[in-house]
Amino acid sequence: MGRWGSRLFKCDEDLDMAFSMATELGVSDRYWKHSMSAMVHQSDILAPPEAKARYQTPEYAVELADVIIPYIRDKLDTDDLGDRLFAASKAQETDEDDPRQETKYRTIILGALIMRAGAKIKNEDLEHLRALMPQINCSLRRSMSGDHGFRPPGRAQFLAALDHYVPGVPRSFLEPSCGRIEADIGHRHLICMRCRVATYCDEECQHAEVESREHQKVCMCPERR
Ligand SMILES: [Zn+2]
Ligand SMILES: [Zn+2]
Repeated sequence: MGRWGSRLFKCDEDLDMAFSMATELGVSDRYWKHSMSAMVHQSDILAPPEAKARYQTPEYAVELADVIIPYIRDKLDTDDLGDRLFAASKAQETDEDDPRQETKYRTIILGALIMRAGAKIKNEDLEHLRALMPQINCSLRRSMSGDHGFRPPGRAQFLAALDHYVPGVPRSFLEPSCGRIEADIGHRHLICMRCRVATYCDEECQHAEVESREHQKVCMCPERR
């Protein structure tokens, strides 16, 4: 989902976490019609070409929005499953033996999946996610010690989601980092003409990000990604 292709689902590590999330937290989603990871598979860079082609069709977009996401939202909202998963993930967080912050980052990914579904999430859980943010590694590129934690664009997306999330409204994590989604502004986002992935709510928003120089670190044309 990383709209800039920079983590939060758009990479193997995030997708693997999404894939094993339910099981690791003691819930079997094996017989669900759609698993939680079905919400984020479309951006898997290792997906075979046929799958990638299908993920780009309008039919798939409709199925994702009208079938898969509401299905998962319903699952998470029934009997407070989302809250229970969150509590389970929180309970497994540890500092010891976890230099890669994997258990904490998993809670971040769980929070992102819950918001992706538009499911309810308690205020105290949002607060917990906020408190985790400074504890999670954030690097621009894959480092020698492996690839874990945030990339700056994914981090910006997640912070924007924390500030603007409305239960019932699925958060795609493809929104501008200012947090204004298309439903708020009533028109399509502007798109960066160079990388074609970063989005902005208006020209002022784009200008602000260019000024901050944050985007240029990750902006590259599609051929170079
Ligand atoms: Zn904006
Ligand atoms: Zn760009």
